[in-house]
Amino acid sequence: MKNIHPKHAPITQFPLSEDCLEVGGMSLLRLAQRVGKTPFYAYDRQLISDRVALLRSHLPAEVHIHYAMKANPMPAVVQHIANLVDGIDVASVGELGVALDTPISPSQISFAGPGKRDNELSCAIAAGITLNMESEQEMERIATFGQSLGICPKVAIRVNPDFELKSSGMKMSGGPKQFGVDAESVPSMLAQINKLGLHFEGFHIFCGSQNLNAAAIQEAQEKTIELGLRLAEHAPDPIRILNIGGGFGIPYFPGEKDLDVISVSKNLHRLLDEKKQQLTNTKIAIELGRYLVAEAGIYVCRVLERKKSRGQVFLITDGGLNHHLAASGNFGQVIRKNYPVVVGNKIVGQERENVSVVGPLCTPLDLLADQIEMAKADVGDLIVVFQSGAYGLTASPTAFLNHPPPMEVLV
Ligand SMILES: *Cc1c(COP(=O)(O)O)cnc(C)c1O
Repeated sequence: MKNIHPKHAPITQFPLSEDCLEVGGMSLLRLAQRVGKTPFYAYDRQLISDRVALLRSHLPAEVHIHYAMKANPMPAVVQHIANLVDGIDVASVGELGVALDTPISPSQISFAGPGKRDNELSCAIAAGITLNMESEQEMERIATFGQSLGICPKVAIRVNPDFELKSSGMKMSGGPKQFGVDAESVPSMLAQINKLGLHFEGFHIFCGSQNLNAAAIQEAQEKTIELGLRLAEHAPDPIRILNIGGGFGIPYFPGEKDLDVISVSKNLHRLLDEKKQQLTNTKIAIELGRYLVAEAGIYVCRVLERKKSRGQVFLITDGGLNHHLAASGNFGQVIRKNYPVVVGNKIVGQERENVSVVGPLCTPLDLLADQIEMAKADVGDLIVVFQSGAYGLTASPTAFLNHPPPMEVLV
């Protein structure tokens, strides 16, 4: 696709036919007819497969790729990805149920997150997955449940390292955090693991999210592996797994560029070669959410009305922040910026204009694009928000104003 928004990284993953976007081998107009109503999210399965294949072609072969399913927990998407990746990381008992329905073996599922409820712990132990423990109290509770169920729980320690992932959209480590066990407290926890009858698997060290800076990721990976190996000296057995986190970002906003995964991969080859001796029995895993799915997904809504107010054109659509909070700028952004947004059935169009794309909610926050240049759209045209395959529907307040929720399709 021709780069319609020169300030955004080019959107090249979807073909065009007669000025209309194609998704999953079908024109967007036809797909909208097939779905039957707008708004909807569409995820392209081939693009997800291509993304995993791209990673595999660069990463060291021994690196396991895990899917962090909170990025997109649609069951059909998770089923598809389960056939491509080596493991799934879940963060609730609800996600665990979806992951257990896939062909992935429970031994390849792990469960992280602070504040796990009693039934989450007991279900996870019974399922035979690995619990990434976020505190010492959680370790004691897991041991108690394991005894009462008569099952030896598989556990890893989630470590809050003493460094952070620089230039991350979201920092999840360094300093005081609700996530994980402070690195300096890990040795005393390890000393109790055998006594408590727990089966120790290894460490989970996740530093941050949405990072586009290869050098920052490389630095964090190096420190993470070193920390993991240092802590492993205190472990009762050689560690079986070292989950070094992920944080691979995708370009959402003007001025952002694709992450250089080739550079990250080369550096990981080097790091793993250097530490080969110490890692002979240890599987290295990375966990990725948005990097696998975000660019494969679009959000589609329809223009209900063209409205002019004091010279500015507003396209009022049937979609909005209730379906796509992140595109409205209200999911963690400090300064609101536009996602790449186009008229899906008139990509280039005959005429161009500057418009704001809004939803039907009674709040000025309900903004999908603020004064963006697009083809001139009419009532009935389809507005497409790209980069929407992660943190879309399930990260949005769908009950707000009580409009019907959008559909989701995997094509
Ligand atoms: C959310 C989360 C991820 C996924 O983050 P992305 O930015 O979508 O890749 C991975 N690991 C943990 C522990 C998480 O909480």
